[in-house]
Amino acid sequence: MLLGGKDKPDPAFLEAVVRASGQKTLAHCYQCGKCTAGCPTTFAMDYKPNRIIRMLQLGRKEEVLGSRTIWVCAACFTCSTRCPCNIDVAQVMDSLRVIARREGKTGLGRGVVLFNDLFLLSVRRNGRVFETGLALSFNLRRKTFFRDAELGRFMFTRGKLRFTPDRPKGVRELARLFAKAEEKVEE
Ligand code: SF4
Ligand code: SF4
Repeated sequence: MLLGGKDKPDPAFLEAVVRASGQKTLAHCYQCGKCTAGCPTTFAMDYKPNRIIRMLQLGRKEEVLGSRTIWVCAACFTCSTRCPCNIDVAQVMDSLRVIARREGKTGLGRGVVLFNDLFLLSVRRNGRVFETGLALSFNLRRKTFFRDAELGRFMFTRGKLRFTPDRPKGVRELARLFAKAEEKVEE
């Protein structure tokens, strides 16, 4: 799969990821596998982290951006602390998510992207995340109406979930910070 991958190699892709992630030693990876050995989410990945790095070196852009791995990565940074080449693999994964999103290639990560967007919207509106609203809007948008319903009922009865958001002071200031951050992204 790695050498005879299905997409045409894009030699400029490695350089683009180096620029986006700031990982100048990306090409030095020699496949020791330490990143993968410490990764807690490999069971749900289609390509292990070290393979993603190798695919980057080979310019396999479509396969990398279309992989489940970049969305399953939990950004725990274990890989980054273990790499003998000082490659911040977690940062690479983050940059790949940004690139995939910018290029509209969220494919297997659609649920993750939706969750992230709704999470940020909730924080922006309420000053902190309102879990009940987040879960309801996520399940409505995904048409998984009764998912986690039993768990939700259990948490309500124990006072772990609320029906209304608990807004802290400074919600307006937070909204202003969000607006500023958006301006920066658009620049
Ligand atoms: S940051 Fe991502 S790729 Fe690295 S160890 Fe954690 S989950 Fe795995
Ligand atoms: S730990 Fe570093 S050198 Fe080893 S396979 Fe992972 S990225 Fe490559």
